[in-house]
Amino acid sequence: MAAVTELTRPDELRAFAERVATCTKCALAQGRTQVVFGSGAPDADLMFVGEAPGFHEDQQGIPFVGAAGKLLEQLLAGIGLTRSDVYVANVLKCRPPGNRDPMPEEIEACEGHLWRQIELIQPRVVATLGNFATKLLSGKPTGITRVHGQEQETTLGGRRVLLYPLYHPAAALYTPRMLEVLQSDFRRIPELLGRELEPPTPLLAPVTAEPAVQLGLF
Ligand code: URA
Repeated sequence: MAAVTELTRPDELRAFAERVATCTKCALAQGRTQVVFGSGAPDADLMFVGEAPGFHEDQQGIPFVGAAGKLLEQLLAGIGLTRSDVYVANVLKCRPPGNRDPMPEEIEACEGHLWRQIELIQPRVVATLGNFATKLLSGKPTGITRVHGQEQETTLGGRRVLLYPLYHPAAALYTPRMLEVLQSDFRRIPELLGRELEPPTPLLAPVTAEPAVQLGLF
């Protein structure tokens, strides 16, 4: 009988990336150089989710390699981390033409890839960069200006995580006040990584002895 080899989560993530590399779920497939799946530690505790690949990301196949990526690296260095300690991905895996905003049908076509990535990576903290990632992963329409820096415990990819909305580094590049806020929000990440999370809420209410006691059976 053939031996059944169990895939580790990093193996599964690699196999999944290979499948996504040929995705044609939306029209962005026609204009891309390549799918930009994500990069970093496959079992990272901290995962960043941006918006979509730009020109350089589309060319190199790696998220956040342009000016916004340089800023992300500096912010990480400020809390003693490098890109290889974290995982970086985007809401969209393919570049929208001219770097326009993602369209709802593109997000809908692509989001399953992100959910599966989160399921396989099992991060403790998911930091969303900007409006698109924040709205998608929080499931709420509230914009980043109102929610940045406010962590919330939620269930993503079947596990409890801290969702931590941050300003997008590309926006902070040209707005000094926003950069200060982003730096200050970033400094809280080490504390968030150490947080104990509540276990998931059970789908069914726990069975208690009360009804039987009330019925006088005991
Ligand atoms: N901006 C993003 O949101 N993602 C990238 O990969 C690059 C820039």
